[in-house]
Amino acid sequence: MQDFISIARYQTQLLNGETTCKATVAHYLEKIEAHQHLNAFIEVYAAEALQRAEELDAMTAPQGKLHGVIVALKDVICHKDHAVTAASKILEGFTAVFSATAVERLLEAGAIIIGRVNCDEFAMGSTNEHSVYGKVLNAADETRIPGGSSGGSAVAVQAGLSMVSLGSDTGGSVRQPADFCGIIGLKPTYGRVSRYGLIAYASSFDQIGIFARTIPDTALVLEVIAGADDFDSTVSQQPVPAYSAALKKDATYRIAYFPEALEHESLDPEISAALKDQLGKWEAAGHTVTPVHFDLLDYIVPTYYVLTTAEASSNLSRFDGVKYGYRSPEAAREELDGFYKKNRSEGFGKEVKRRILLGNFVLSSGYYDAYFTQAQKVRRILTNNLQLIFKEFDFICLPTAPSVAFKIGEKAQDPIAMYIADIYTVMANLTGIPAISLPLFTHPTHQMPFGVQLMAAPFNELSLLSFSNNNLATESLF
Ligand code: GLN
Repeated sequence: MQDFISIARYQTQLLNGETTCKATVAHYLEKIEAHQHLNAFIEVYAAEALQRAEELDAMTAPQGKLHGVIVALKDVICHKDHAVTAASKILEGFTAVFSATAVERLLEAGAIIIGRVNCDEFAMGSTNEHSVYGKVLNAADETRIPGGSSGGSAVAVQAGLSMVSLGSDTGGSVRQPADFCGIIGLKPTYGRVSRYGLIAYASSFDQIGIFARTIPDTALVLEVIAGADDFDSTVSQQPVPAYSAALKKDATYRIAYFPEALEHESLDPEISAALKDQLGKWEAAGHTVTPVHFDLLDYIVPTYYVLTTAEASSNLSRFDGVKYGYRSPEAAREELDGFYKKNRSEGFGKEVKRRILLGNFVLSSGYYDAYFTQAQKVRRILTNNLQLIFKEFDFICLPTAPSVAFKIGEKAQDPIAMYIADIYTVMANLTGIPAISLPLFTHPTHQMPFGVQLMAAPFNELSLLSFSNNNLATESLF
């Protein structure tokens, strides 16, 4: 079996009889086995994937656009009759009773789901260190974290353990681990992909996102999973373009950047220099590159953490051990209040508890107006501000993260430092716009990959993907 280059190349090999889905699955299972120490996979569906591969091989024509494509799913995405736990003890032993719409669509298109991958508990985190299954290692440097919360999804693609993977992005959880692992991470527009079957963290921010090695692969997965869904009323009715076939070549774009972001004190100077250099190259290639003053940067992380913890405190109230999930062995001896307390105190991890407490605090009477209402106002101002920018520009260019992947444990004792590192990613979720992280650079000192982030106006994924494709020599990434 040749190394995976792209879905199109692989499907040609299938058609030409150079490989089979079954041989490919077997190859991936071996690789997963050989990389177990990275701790990316929580569960591998070996027998099931091989059987499905055989069924696909027996078909006389491809089942769909993702025929034979090997996919890993973050442990927050429901897959009927398979365990799903949000990497939390509180969902220990829980089996999904239906599949997420995105999963249904992957399967209808012929994909093979090879396993369920690790993440931060309830997708809260930036390092994948907050998981009941333990931390995930970055395959580029095993002393470093892969990023989070979708760390397992990123490492699965980085280390060649799946061809593509799905994660979720509430504040950067697809783009930041993609950046730290040297692959592509796309967060679609809010409402582009159904959230049905995605375990909620903060419902007005959450989107399922895609990890891949090439832009055509990213585009193909997006066109399969995107689009209207009767099970999620927040999904847009806008038709889904055939992104992969519609990728445009040679267009010129208007790119805005925020000098405040590139000069920010938290940003690694080598990352800043690489981005400035890249902007210069784009200008030389005929795009317009314009500095735009943006003075809201320091408000966006606090706004994000007020609003998402508020939503999380409400979303996570359903986990109480009554109908499903973890129940403390001592809970039966308690009155109702004590029953909830025991289950929730033992079932949730530290970071999740911190956020539930914070969320309840910002929603509590006396503090609601001071925090929650204020944060909602900032969200509105930010959205209006970006709308104005997108009247004049196609993209906003930002770093994806202020540094390369941290060392394991480096920020574990300092949640605030960890939160501040979300400075460049949370804006897209606060305003619902699509954003992508492109793996363009290697850090000269740390020898670690990092990317550049591009954001576009809502539902402008096609231009985002087209521009990205022209900047990543497809098929030459690895
Ligand atoms: N790092 C962010 C957080 O901890 C992002 C999480 C996410 O996108 N799921 O909230």
